[in-house]
Amino acid sequence: MNIHEYQAKALLAGFGVAVPRGGVAYTAPEAAQTAKDLAKDMPGDPVLVVKAQIHAGGRGKGGGVKVVKSIDDVLDTASQILGMQLITHQTGPAGKEVKRVYIEEGCDIARELYLSMLIDRASSRITIMASTEGGMDIEEVAAKTPEKIIMEVIDPTTGIQAFHARNIAFGLGLEGKQVGSAVKLIMGLYKAFNALDASLVEINPLVVTGAGDVMALDAKMNFDDNALFRQKEVADLRDEDEEDPAELEAAKHELNYIKLDGNIGCMVNGAGLAMATMDIIKLNGGDPANFLDVGGGATKERVTTAFKLILSDPNVKGILVNIFGGIMRCDVIADGVVAAAKEVSLNVPLVVRLEGTNVDLGKKIMAESGLPIVSADDLGDAAEKIVQAVKEAGK
Ligand code: ADP
Ligand code: MG
Repeated sequence: MNIHEYQAKALLAGFGVAVPRGGVAYTAPEAAQTAKDLAKDMPGDPVLVVKAQIHAGGRGKGGGVKVVKSIDDVLDTASQILGMQLITHQTGPAGKEVKRVYIEEGCDIARELYLSMLIDRASSRITIMASTEGGMDIEEVAAKTPEKIIMEVIDPTTGIQAFHARNIAFGLGLEGKQVGSAVKLIMGLYKAFNALDASLVEINPLVVTGAGDVMALDAKMNFDDNALFRQKEVADLRDEDEEDPAELEAAKHELNYIKLDGNIGCMVNGAGLAMATMDIIKLNGGDPANFLDVGGGATKERVTTAFKLILSDPNVKGILVNIFGGIMRCDVIADGVVAAAKEVSLNVPLVVRLEGTNVDLGKKIMAESGLPIVSADDLGDAAEKIVQAVKEAGK
């Protein structure tokens, strides 16, 4: 699960991570009021930043982060940004509608750095990554100048130690009081990561201010979905507006559904089989429209829901059902597929590969349904048939 920048900053501040003061707003007048409150404690003319809150990075370049010099400008800028369709390199060409803005104190930036923590699968440990190239995509830094990335791998039996944090601070070229400020921030970040079951925390940029303080100017946090049951505070931050409606619907029915860019809808049981199915579609020159694992104990109702979900995606030009009847019986699946296909008046090619318990009965049910279901014998055959059928239908 992802959260907004302002939510991540509030969580991190609770662990002693330094962040600028700010407040969220849903309307322009609210934004102006927040700005007024912030300006009370600012000497001289206030410098404020209006930041679009969407679950995507690159907002600055896309016009979603604006530095302004008065409350009136906050009002104008917030009314421009709220409701806009913000396009960044992470949103896709359609962009995302901005429904919240964060009004933040302007920061006197001396240096922009990069800091993140993630679970490194190779070492199975929390790994801290830092770089002097703040504001840049870390993927680009890793590809072009890997020597500029500093890493510290944390042993879970000891947890983070001050020397880990100091290594990062010195690696970033910090000096004097900046070092202590960075160490405090890094230790706080690690505590937050563990305590909140995060899977990624990215601070880009981490800044050194003119006064020598080290602060998180941006914050992105991802959380382990499997831990949300014990992270109520985090779970409550979910913003359903930012999520794919089909994925939300799937979650309600305990279906593991992830929308993808291709045109072949897949209905599979078991995550491993689902991955293999997507691979073999690709191998045959097709593109999966989704990942969908209906689970081991799928019922007829679930199969029907899964079918409807797949078809709610207008990109879907064909469906491949690939089910192994182990816990589940093939005749139950066949009943579900036939019922669903009738109910949704299926108008794209459907290839079904069933294997396992009661497979013959399952095939018989489909053959006698009167529906144009193409039966396949194995995974390779199924993939070939659906890719071919989609190609033909597209002619
Ligand atoms: P994104 O990564 O989505 O573009 P950021 O929060 O990183 O959004 O903001 C983009 C840039 O805007 C930062 O690199 C920084 O230069 C500037 N910026 C962001 N917040 C502030 C702030 N509070 N004060 C001054 N500049 C800021
Ligand atoms: Mg950023």
